[in-house]
Amino acid sequence: MKSKREGNTRFRLVLTLGLAVVLPALTLIYVNFKHVKSIQRDKKFEALLHRDFQYLLYIAQKKINGKAYEITEQARDVFPSAEDSDKDKKSKLEQLMAKSPWFGHVFLFDSKKGVIVQAQKDRTSDHEIAELERMYKGWMGMEGAFLVEQLRKKPKPFTWYSGEFGGPNGPTYQTTAIFTLPKLTSDRTVLGGVTFDSKYLKETFFPQLLEEFTSQKFSGDQGQRVAQFHELAPREIDEHQEQRLAMLVFPADAMKSEPERPLAMSTGWNGENKPEVSQKLDDPFRGLALGIKFQGTTAQAIANRWVMQSFSILGVLSVLMIGGLVLTYRSVNKQMALARLKSDFVSNVSHELRTPLALIRLYAETLELGRITTELKKHEYYSIIRKESERLTALINNILDFSRIEAGRKEYDFRETDIAELVRNTLDSYRYQIEQQGFVFEEQIDTSIPSVRVDREAIARALVNLVNNALKYSDNEKFLGVRLYRDDRVLKLEVSDRGIGIDRNEQSRIFEKFYRTGDPLVHNTKGSGLGLSLVRHITKAHGGDVEVESAPGRGSKFIVTLPLTQPGTTGAA
Ligand code: ADP
Repeated sequence: MKSKREGNTRFRLVLTLGLAVVLPALTLIYVNFKHVKSIQRDKKFEALLHRDFQYLLYIAQKKINGKAYEITEQARDVFPSAEDSDKDKKSKLEQLMAKSPWFGHVFLFDSKKGVIVQAQKDRTSDHEIAELERMYKGWMGMEGAFLVEQLRKKPKPFTWYSGEFGGPNGPTYQTTAIFTLPKLTSDRTVLGGVTFDSKYLKETFFPQLLEEFTSQKFSGDQGQRVAQFHELAPREIDEHQEQRLAMLVFPADAMKSEPERPLAMSTGWNGENKPEVSQKLDDPFRGLALGIKFQGTTAQAIANRWVMQSFSILGVLSVLMIGGLVLTYRSVNKQMALARLKSDFVSNVSHELRTPLALIRLYAETLELGRITTELKKHEYYSIIRKESERLTALINNILDFSRIEAGRKEYDFRETDIAELVRNTLDSYRYQIEQQGFVFEEQIDTSIPSVRVDREAIARALVNLVNNALKYSDNEKFLGVRLYRDDRVLKLEVSDRGIGIDRNEQSRIFEKFYRTGDPLVHNTKGSGLGLSLVRHITKAHGGDVEVESAPGRGSKFIVTLPLTQPGTTGAA
């Protein structure tokens, strides 16, 4: 009946733990695990980073182009017109060059009047200028009219010629804009042109822009670009916003292999890794490409780190969760065991109360009827009644002590005591019972022990409990030994028997409240499981301890150790 209910409770507990906790927890772990795994497998993370990079490159290209157009358009606005005198043209071009360090040279072609080339004086030799004039004359002479035709059709009247040209110091990149002038002349071909200075592009124009892109990057919350970026970037990869970016410009034909000859780069480009993403530039910088990556790391490394982090967090969480479950399970089990012990205790105690009461009643009734005539018999009955009521008192005292201890209200009354006398007196009231039960009783009491401060009642109770146990748990060989002796600076009280003994792994548990061993004899003997826990409490309160030496089937020896110099105080334990 009891075990069935217990089984039910356990089943319910396991069911609750299983359905309400373990299952959701495991599902959560599993789903997260899958999720992280799938992100890793799909390379989603890197793909997302790359998409962001592409977007950034797109924005960067727009800016670069915008800037180049702006410069060129401004130049076109101040270009001399075909109607100006040669002198005016010269001086206007000269002024333009002075204001525009970014141009290597500019030219004005007029199919009637020829070509004027104006170059940066400090950088260009007369010979080079003459070369350029010859070149433009030939080129525009052949293609000028066609070019004008083409430019008329375009929304912006610009056409670009870009590429790398071999020079004395290796290839240099140049880009030239050719445009029609704002005031069109119908009778002849007139074209203007500006060429960006390759040194300026390399050393100033690109580096400045790249620096601007990489420093503003995703850092601030301001600006539309950042806002747009946030929309693009899923929250889970926020982390890389702290990563600084690096960018470079390099000849597009190097794109397939490593960009070995970058034209310009931002700070933080250490050249260790290839760009994560690159994009070919369009007019005005056709022939160049823009590359982007993280400073000092790669998208793959970040992705790996992120996945690793997720896995370890997941791992730690799982361990914590499982640990929590195990702890809960154990504590619930412990509570259940305690509840079981308590209910055992109640039924044991009720039995223990009932037996002496029944005996007392039986013998009292017999005496009352007056049928007993011999004095000897009467005496026997009286003594049974006395002993049974003593047993009752002892049991009730145990229970009262126990409840005081549990409530933290147990008080000890320490007094100078001749402990040898105390032990002998206590044993005296049991001597008859011991011998009646057929026990061989061996007593060794050292009477020279100095007096100690103890609570007499408590020590007597501890002894009585130990003696009672020895009597209760002996079957074949009935022997009881009590020794009191001095051992260096402690005194020892030993109670030994040759009874059923206690299994090694139960020896530490018998001092716990309510605990009773699994031995069948114990099962059939009444007991509350409180005795030894009281003994331990009492000895500890005296600054001592209790130990057991025992072997199953061979008997047990309980050793109470008390210090000779007592704590000496009276107080709550
Ligand atoms: P109780 O005797 O009322 O069951 P105790 O706390 O005195 O409770 O003892 C706890 C358990 O320790 C006993 O149930 C018994 O299993 C074991 N035990 C105690 N003393 C002895 C002994 N002398 N020999 C064998 N087993 C013992």
